[in-house]
Amino acid sequence: MRTIGLLGGMSWESSALYYRLLNETVRDRLGGLHSARCLLLSVDFAGIERLQAAGDWAAAGALLATDARALQAAGADVVVLCTNTMHTVADVVADAIDVPLLHIGDSTAGAVTAAGLSCIGLLGTRYTMEQPFMADRLAAAGLEVLVPEKADRDRVHRVIYEELVLGIVRDESRQAYRDVVDRLVARGARGVVLGCTEIELLIGPDDVDVPTFPTTALHVAAAVEAALASDGAAPPPTITG
Ligand code: GLU
Repeated sequence: MRTIGLLGGMSWESSALYYRLLNETVRDRLGGLHSARCLLLSVDFAGIERLQAAGDWAAAGALLATDARALQAAGADVVVLCTNTMHTVADVVADAIDVPLLHIGDSTAGAVTAAGLSCIGLLGTRYTMEQPFMADRLAAAGLEVLVPEKADRDRVHRVIYEELVLGIVRDESRQAYRDVVDRLVARGARGVVLGCTEIELLIGPDDVDVPTFPTTALHVAAAVEAALASDGAAPPPTITG
């Protein structure tokens, strides 16, 4: 089994979910007492959030590139950046290491296209909904991507930073997200990408009438595929960098 390097802490609430899902998936795949061989480098999110708010993506990218190199030096065979938002600097991180970075947009796009959908809603932080790095990755797979209108983007973003990254899960926020998804569906979305690694702590398939695509769970599935791929086999198509 290859060693999965998790670059997490963004937030640690979703990194904990990554860790649990990774181990559960490896146990289910291999049985017995098997668990995931992994490393976790968990950053102090306050510093990252400050750089995001300041729009200093270059500094954030440099920090994450250094941490990705540390994971590689510690033995990671693949690196997983445990956040959608910071994939805005995915190229910088991928360029800093010699092992593959598994892009969260690729595992997501693969699941949406496998489900046969062509028009999809995208929820996430303001950065993920408004910058091109995720929407373009999905569009490159042939998908039409709809993001919420401005007021709804503000709502979705606020819940992430004021609640979910702090481990706060509120019924009112779940209902607000349901309403946002309903408005995306009314505009033509046939499914919704939960494009923030904490959103699946708030809503799931039972909360909305269209298929949901949980980016954390899909990213984990890709990481396990990569970790268990037989030696010398061609890398899975989700790998970039
Ligand atoms: N985990 C979140 C995401 O997937 C938001 C926190 C962050 O800004 O990294 O985008």
